[in-house]
This record gives sequence, structure tokens and C-alpha cells, in this order.
Amino acid sequence: MTRMSQLRWFTCLLLGAGAGPGLAQNLPADHPSVTVRGVTYTPRSVLARNMGSEADRVTQFPPHKVIGNIYYVGTTTLSSFLVVTPQGNILIDSTYERNVPTIAKSVEQLGFKFSDIKILLGNHAHGDHQEGDALVKQMSGAQVMAMAEDVPALKELKPGGKEHPVDRILHDGEQVTLGGTTLVAHLTPGHTRGCTTWTTTAQEGGKTYNVMFGCSLRPPAVVTPEVADEFTRSFKTVRALPCDVQLGDHGAQYNMREKFAKLKDGAPNPFIDPASCTLEADVEEAMFHALLAEQQAARP
Ligand SMILES: [Zn+2]
Repeated sequence: MTRMSQLRWFTCLLLGAGAGPGLAQNLPADHPSVTVRGVTYTPRSVLARNMGSEADRVTQFPPHKVIGNIYYVGTTTLSSFLVVTPQGNILIDSTYERNVPTIAKSVEQLGFKFSDIKILLGNHAHGDHQEGDALVKQMSGAQVMAMAEDVPALKELKPGGKEHPVDRILHDGEQVTLGGTTLVAHLTPGHTRGCTTWTTTAQEGGKTYNVMFGCSLRPPAVVTPEVADEFTRSFKTVRALPCDVQLGDHGAQYNMREKFAKLKDGAPNPFIDPASCTLEADVEEAMFHALLAEQQAARP
């Protein structure tokens, strides 16, 4: 091996190590670290926790009822939720386009029809959450609704050249209603300009519970003053929302796997967990301040 080819080989190894396709270029730093409720996180560990392996992103997670008329139909690490009503259903997050058949399979396994999806919503304009929107619309005829501030980024998502469809543009605080269920769109920007936290209520055992579909609050590696302002507002917004059941665009944001394992007929619903409602905000807000402090210290 020549010196040059040796060098190339080492470079290859370094760049390829530990990251799945698409993540290598964007692998965040392993600092700063923050400890929240006894667990230590770094930007890199949070991303790894959210995304899992390439297989985790595309493997069906057992579809299950979360609460009332809300069901999980996503993969091991990418969330997709089905909200069932007597007048048709709402899907939140299509995830990757290649996952849409898996989501359709989960919907059917729960006893519902994919063609009954009348409305498609999303959490935020990144490919792992909304790349499949055009295909979902093609397969179901659903109306696609999106937060105005995320529309430019959604238009960039063009799997196989398909244009991203938007049938209704939403603004902060607007409601989406179908068959007696109302979802409220809360603008919680920072991760993307139009990151949307959805809230609704669900009935179970004669009681009404507040459900929150959290949008990612994960800050980028470099926090610009504009993004810092957005996050500062978003953390406040999220903390003020009523919540008994916290969900998220990645299952790890609400300990889905651990809670799913505790699901048992007759036992209390593990997803009703108000104490965990602000956990993700606590982690990401601590990380946000640590990143800002690190940026400040690096300035000459
Ligand atoms: Zn994202």
C-alpha cells in the first residue's frame, strides 16, 4: 500500500465509522453534554437516540392504540399517528416515502382502511417525517395541510421528482376538525421554521385527556440569533400547553418502547404520564443553553 492509498483508506474509515447513510455528513458533535433527570445527553447521543439504526428507521413497530381514538402506525424510530373518527381518519407524519407501505400495513392491521385517511398533517419539514406526503395523498386522496412557515422547506422534498402537495396552509393556533375531533396547530419553530406541535383531547374510561404531539426541539449545531429567538419562544409555548399524554416525532422522545412494553388489559394506560410531559423540553432547553454558552466561549 502506498502512502497515498493508506491515507485514503484511513479517511474512508473515519468518515464511514458509526453513521448510517445520510447521517455521516450531518453527524453532530459529542459536546456539550447536559444531564437531565439523571441521564446525560450530547447532540450526537440525542440524534442517535432519535434515529436508531437504518433498520430501525424502516422496520414496522407493532401498531398499537395509544389512547382513545389515537393509534401508533410508525416504524421503530419514526413516528406516525392515526387519529380515527366516524367521518374518516387523520394521519400525522408520513415519514420516508419508502415507509408508506409499512404505515399502510399497520393501519390495515389495526382494522382501518388506508383509503379512509382524509387529512394528512405533519410535525416538521424534514425527510424522515414528511418525505412520503405525496405518496400518501396519491394512495388515499387525503387533503394535505401544513404550517405556512414550513411550506418552503416542504417544497424542497421531492422524492422521485414528485412535487410536495399542500391543499391548505395553516397558521399558528388554527384548528383542524374531522368527525368530532379537533387538532390545534401550535407554531413551535427552531428545529424548522414551521415546526408544529399538535394538541387534541382523547377520551378513555369516561375521562378526557390532553394529548400533545410534540415537534422536535433539537437545536442545530450552530444557533443563529434568529433561531435562538425562535427556540426561546417555543420552549415557553410548549411548557404552557395542557398535557397528560406526551407524544413525539421520534418514539424515544416519550419513551415509547418502555411504555409500549407496559401496555396490558386492565392496567393503567402507561401513555398517560403528565410527569414526563416536559421531559423533552427539559433536555433540549438544557442543550440549547449549553450550545449557546459553548458558542459564546468560542468567540474571540
Ligand atoms: Zn428533524
